[in-house]
Amino acid sequence: MYECVRCGKRTTAKELSKLPRARCICGYAVFTKSAPVTERRLRAV
Ligand SMILES: [Zn+2]
Repeated sequence: MYECVRCGKRTTAKELSKLPRARCICGYAVFTKSAPVTERRLRAV
């Protein structure tokens, strides 16, 4: 599971591998790894 650092959109590694370039829909290409199940980052809203 990867999370776009810009828009926060989550993408799986599988989806990324389908793309010609590992790039988010927003156009940004920097991702952070995020654990899908156990770890959930809390954000101050
Ligand atoms: Zn994005």
